[in-house]
Amino acid sequence: SESILDCDMLVLGAGPGGYSAAFRAADLGMKTVLVERYATLGGVCLNVGCIPSKALLHVASVMEEVAHFEDLGVSYDDPEIDVARLLAHKNKVVGKLTGGLAAMAQMRKVEVVRGVGSFVDAHQLQVEVTAGDGQAKTGATRTVRFKQCIIAAGSAAVHLPFLPEDERIVDSTGALELRQVPGRLLVIGGGIIGLEMATVYSALGARVDVVEMLDGLMQGPDRDLVKVWEKQNAHRFGLVMTGTRTVAVDARDDGLHVSFEGKKAPAEPQRYDMILQSAGRTPNGHKIAAAKAGVEVTERGFIPVDAQMRTNVPHIFAIGDIVGQPMLAHKAVHEAHVAAEVAAGEERRFDATVIPSVAYTHPEVAWVGMTEAQAKAEGKKVSAAKFPWAASGRAIANGVDYGFTKLIFDEQTHRCIGGAMVGPNAGDMIGEVVLAIEMGAQAADIGRSIHPHPTLGESIGMAAEVFEGVCTDLP
Ligand code: FAD
Repeated sequence: SESILDCDMLVLGAGPGGYSAAFRAADLGMKTVLVERYATLGGVCLNVGCIPSKALLHVASVMEEVAHFEDLGVSYDDPEIDVARLLAHKNKVVGKLTGGLAAMAQMRKVEVVRGVGSFVDAHQLQVEVTAGDGQAKTGATRTVRFKQCIIAAGSAAVHLPFLPEDERIVDSTGALELRQVPGRLLVIGGGIIGLEMATVYSALGARVDVVEMLDGLMQGPDRDLVKVWEKQNAHRFGLVMTGTRTVAVDARDDGLHVSFEGKKAPAEPQRYDMILQSAGRTPNGHKIAAAKAGVEVTERGFIPVDAQMRTNVPHIFAIGDIVGQPMLAHKAVHEAHVAAEVAAGEERRFDATVIPSVAYTHPEVAWVGMTEAQAKAEGKKVSAAKFPWAASGRAIANGVDYGFTKLIFDEQTHRCIGGAMVGPNAGDMIGEVVLAIEMGAQAADIGRSIHPHPTLGESIGMAAEVFEGVCTDLP
């Protein structure tokens, strides 16, 4: 059956980018339609990304902490893990949030159309209606006719071509389903997503090996942070194979036999019960017939946009993972608001100076803006002010005095242009550094702002004082 739905604003994809854009467009008075293939709103982030991974990582983090409580005079028996209940908890967390989004869409009269959308021309999208879990096509189609459109179709996990089809080989979505706790798990790709899932599975009792083509795990932050992280995580991993690649996987009844090549490749193939491939994500640009709308898509599947989030077709915008790196939810949300507001006629542009990154592992690593390594490579005159948590009363009390906070200052202007932290709650604290950079704060602004004592957040003020030379008696 065919019916045409007319709207001012069509948003394709209901991830953090898409739902934020649709809600803002509706708030600005546009009749808005949101097309999403899956049964629930929230996209990758809420359903199979940020939120479910954090629900599990919270558990892993608490387990890690109490494992060291014996020295503090508090001991527990070894943990007993009921994977089914843990999974139910994770699903409940996700359900609360996706249910909340559905209510917010309804409140704003955003019409949600469930199905797979592809462009017919620059003003029409055809939707193959889906039902049930949202993936099965029903055979019915609907056409949405729009005045303006925001593409927020996101990204998908890269599937490595040499890996066989086997249910023991999963991507992050499969790993979050917790179908089994394997004896031995191989994580292919030592980026944030891979390391977060490695943290979860190791807490659940798996022996985890990691293989990474590049020379170090967790690319992005300065190596001094990663070194601390590695030391705290040494007990988690079997083999950490950096500078190494997976060359073949032989799927047999008794396990997945993997051979490696490179710097840290073991001589013998290794046997695993499960493999997680987390070797990056690829944008969905080639899956929506963008060419029919005249929208340009790069070979890799990204959609180029300008600072107003417009594609080459002026009434069609694009936001989120599909427009480029960094593929992060908070970036998508800010781009969404810009796109919706520009579409409503407001003068806006995406002009974030910096976008923070966080590895929500145990401990966390958070960083934003210029790194020391980057400054060096660019020949920039900067000063890196480091405050070791060994000098923080709260860090010592919490048993986390291995962490540190580092701020990067421009030597000429004394402005903060970067910052990073390793230690629990680093992700919650990095926001202050983001604000400092965006506001053009100088070291004195940060150092003389009174931070509450005793907190880990104090370390940010202290790092600024280190730069100022007024915090001199460090361990
Ligand atoms: P998506 O969330 O990918 O949403 C796109 C939506 O479009 C999907 O729901 C999809 O079904 C729909 N869609 C696509 N094509 C069509 C079509 N043709 N028709 C209908 N619907 C379509 N980011 C963070 O900032 N913090 C984190 O802690 C974090 N953790 C992560 C953990 C994991 C395991 C993963 C995989 C990702 C994580 N991310 C995290 C990244 C984050 O999930 C993404 O950056 C974010 O979801 C991007 O939002 P988006 O709106 O661009 O697209």
